[in-house]
Amino acid sequence: MKIRYFSAALVLALTIAAPTAGAVNLAEESPKAQETAAAAPAAGAAGTEAAPAEAAEADWKLLLVNPWNTLPEDFSVELVTLASCGLKVDKRIFEDLEEMLVACREAGLRPLICSAYRTEAVQTRLYNNKIARLRAAGYGRESAVKEAGRWVAVPNTSEHQTGLALDIVSAGYQGLTKRQERTAEQQWLMEHCWEYGFILRYPSEKSEITGIGYEPWHYRYVGKETALAMRDSGQCLEEYLEALESPTA
Ligand SMILES: [Zn+2]
Repeated sequence: MKIRYFSAALVLALTIAAPTAGAVNLAEESPKAQETAAAAPAAGAAGTEAAPAEAAEADWKLLLVNPWNTLPEDFSVELVTLASCGLKVDKRIFEDLEEMLVACREAGLRPLICSAYRTEAVQTRLYNNKIARLRAAGYGRESAVKEAGRWVAVPNTSEHQTGLALDIVSAGYQGLTKRQERTAEQQWLMEHCWEYGFILRYPSEKSEITGIGYEPWHYRYVGKETALAMRDSGQCLEEYLEALESPTA
């Protein structure tokens, strides 16, 4: 599969570094579905075309991080802390996120953010902890590494390191399982997230393309225009970006 690597380095050079890991409430015991199995290759060639500043500015919303596209080495992001949970997100998505949560609560629901921005160190700890637990359970070194990758993203392949992704659950049912999709909160979010610039990033029928199992709790900011276009086309982010690169004939 060929996925365009957006000129993230260029985009991100425009942002200001401010990452520190807050008290991150990580649902590390819960299966993170198959947040990647394959060992991630090196970042690959970033787009080298000279993009105008405004195009670069638009591209930060389209940063692709998945098992085949690692976080750019010079990645940095300006974060803001969410008062409701103490977790952090890219400050540029704050307003739309707040609007979405307010609307969800106004619908009588209780959405709860259980994971947001993660530093590389936190992601690495999660990943290593998973390997250690598997080894303690009797797995050999190699099989533990392989199995861990099915549940916790290999460091630098987790979208949570971008500050653009959030895990949102129902306060009434916080399990990171398929059952989460049946909560009123997920039903509402799946129907309305587009209006606020978010997508359900790992739909059940797109696992082969995203490289990650169905996660009816993981939302990703892409901006309103893109989110609506993706809702209308039924594409996942990988498909959307590939179509952008090869416009319809
Ligand atoms: Zn997630």
